[in-house]
Amino acid sequence: MLRFALAGNPNSGKTTLFNGLTGSTAHVGNWPGVTVDKREGLYKKSSEPIAVVDLPGIYSLSPYTPEEVIARNYILDEKPDCVINIIDATNLERNLYLTTQILEIDVPVVIALNMMDAVEKRGDKIDVKELEKRLNVPVVKISALKGEGIEVVMERALEVCKTKRTGVTVIEETALKHLISDIKIALEGQGVGNPLFHAVKLAELDDLEVLMHKDTVNMVSEFKKQYENPVFGDDYEALVADARYKYITKYFSPTLTRKSKEKFENTPSNKADKILTHKIWGIPIFLGVLFLIFHLTFSENLFFLGNLIPDDWTSLKGTALEGVFATGNGINSPGVILYNLVDAFTTFLSTTVEGWFAGNSTWVSGFVTNGVLGGVFSVLSFLPQILVLFLFFSILEDTGYMARIAFILDRLLKKFGLSGRAFLPMIMGFGCSVPAMINTRTLADEKEKIATVRVIPFFSCGAKLPILTAVAGGIVNYFGILNVDLITYGMYVIGIAVALISVIIMRSTTLKGDAPTFIMELPSYHKPQFKSLMALIWDKAKHFIKKAFTIILASTIVIWFLSHFSFSWQFLSDTQIDQSILASIGKLLQPIFTPLGFGSQIGSNGWVFIVAAITGLIAKENVIATFGTLALCIGSSIIDVEVDGGVAAVTTMISNTGISAAALIAFIAFNMTTIPCFAAVAAAKGEMPNKKAFKGTLIFWIITSYILSSVIYLIGSWWWTSFIVLAVLVAFIFLAKKIKITKKVKK
Ligand code: GDP
Ligand code: MG
Repeated sequence: MLRFALAGNPNSGKTTLFNGLTGSTAHVGNWPGVTVDKREGLYKKSSEPIAVVDLPGIYSLSPYTPEEVIARNYILDEKPDCVINIIDATNLERNLYLTTQILEIDVPVVIALNMMDAVEKRGDKIDVKELEKRLNVPVVKISALKGEGIEVVMERALEVCKTKRTGVTVIEETALKHLISDIKIALEGQGVGNPLFHAVKLAELDDLEVLMHKDTVNMVSEFKKQYENPVFGDDYEALVADARYKYITKYFSPTLTRKSKEKFENTPSNKADKILTHKIWGIPIFLGVLFLIFHLTFSENLFFLGNLIPDDWTSLKGTALEGVFATGNGINSPGVILYNLVDAFTTFLSTTVEGWFAGNSTWVSGFVTNGVLGGVFSVLSFLPQILVLFLFFSILEDTGYMARIAFILDRLLKKFGLSGRAFLPMIMGFGCSVPAMINTRTLADEKEKIATVRVIPFFSCGAKLPILTAVAGGIVNYFGILNVDLITYGMYVIGIAVALISVIIMRSTTLKGDAPTFIMELPSYHKPQFKSLMALIWDKAKHFIKKAFTIILASTIVIWFLSHFSFSWQFLSDTQIDQSILASIGKLLQPIFTPLGFGSQIGSNGWVFIVAAITGLIAKENVIATFGTLALCIGSSIIDVEVDGGVAAVTTMISNTGISAAALIAFIAFNMTTIPCFAAVAAAKGEMPNKKAFKGTLIFWIITSYILSSVIYLIGSWWWTSFIVLAVLVAFIFLAKKIKITKKVKK
């Protein structure tokens, strides 16, 4: 059977084209040894079916990343019958850089000029006939998204795959050209396949190539002596890259006519990047965007309008709708409106179920309303806001903005031994730590990988969101200070900051090393696709609901039983749970948490915070589910917990333990940064090279969370302690520097 491979830059539309060609026959697996997706499928519209492979997205065929190695080896070793090089035509010059490398391989090539719809919408024109002539391979205009032209691509590929094609290079610079041709002749003498491709890579001293052709390397350096280049010195890689770009600008750029006479640098995307990836403003803008997202999700005083308008601002006052659209004098954000609507539904559900059990014995109704409904509903109540938040995050990702964040941070943190590549898995951590940790396999440097896995949990995941929201809601409710959006936003930012600071510390102490080179070309901005966004949200919702009715439900049932039996297996009533197995365990551990503010200093019921944190190890949603299960037993039932969800549960806990606001923030921080859930711990273990590194990871999480929470509690309770904290920090940095200097002197 014929095999065609799709190759192209990330975001060039490979997967869209692949799906269009193969439809339901597609099969997704992994490339051996890495988690990079391997998609294979069949194209059935030709006389005989053709196998199509979607190669990983790459910017070049250098072995900088596993993706590049996979794509390169596939084309060289598996010898597909044709390479379909898909190009984002809105970014022609950048994409042709990869094309010039593919053309050096002895393989039939067809160019699919994708996103032609976007090019035409802009009013730009590409002279395809001329481009085809200059590239000397077929070029087909397509729109993968609209399914236009994709069959023509396959027809042309079918034609060319029956012919032989010998690789050609665009490198014209004379000295370089001669060098390459000398190496090529030498390789041909050794019977090496694809001699031109290997010759160019050998001239660049590409790592993989040097390994493969050890004996030829010496010869190459002999050749080089004859062709010394005064401008670039030894950097042949830069020399080759420069030659490619020069050729592209000279011969391929003229085939593109832009409607606006603006230069390449002045496309809207590049203009936006001038602001969004600005050296100084890039990060404040990111923090601003992040705040806007949290504000739209959690604020009960949208755009702070409530402070401006008079008290009786609307005719909604006093109607049932007021509770949905407004809180006090403030207008609700979309996230809160959704929350209120779903809340009305769950209230109806739980009161109905409660009604069924009203006549039953106390323990049965207690078990159902507290143990089951209280726990599960206190978590489920946050589903709408979680989905809204993820919708925003996915939009940031889909538009290409997240890639910019990696870019900005790369520039900032390269000095500290961290490359932008490591931020992509970190940003994935906002969704769930498990896939994010597995994704670190794309990092080539082992020490960088270990450091990255360790800080991924600090990028607060979806399961931790109920903790943030419920506790923040409790603080606002009970103490009447701050805002939910401000607290949740603040905690996310603290998480990111702690992650970056700990990476910097690790990379200059236990995991010392330089950042590997990270070459990243920013994809141009895209309008997010409504359909794919909805699919993502639906997936998230399904996952969350399923988890609530399995792991969380099972855990709350266990918690309920442990809190209603004593060690002598005596059944306890709600008011006696202070003597339960659960309480004993919590009380035993309480003193450890005193410096964090939720230890021995809070009232006799304070153990609930300890057991909640422990149950969080199973799944982080359990922290709030535990409060929900225990709230009605612990507290006077001023608030209907199974009806009002997690915020009410936390409020009940606050009023019955006397915990302070500072300790509550410390509690959030602790749960955010301590050992993550079992699933994430297992994933981390799988990614660690040895037992020692894994143990170090567990200790790192415990110590970091302990220190962070203590500091937050200290500063939150007594603001002047911030000076002490600062002094300790300065002393620490000073000492660390001094030690470094003395070490240097010893050397
Ligand atoms: P991949 O990374 O190469 O697999 O690219 P995808 O197939 O995931 O596409 C990246 C983005 O480009 C998605 O948002 C697609 O919807 C969009 N896209 C793909 N093909 C086209 C096209 O022909 N026209 C337009 N306007 N957008 C496209
Ligand atoms: Mg793809």
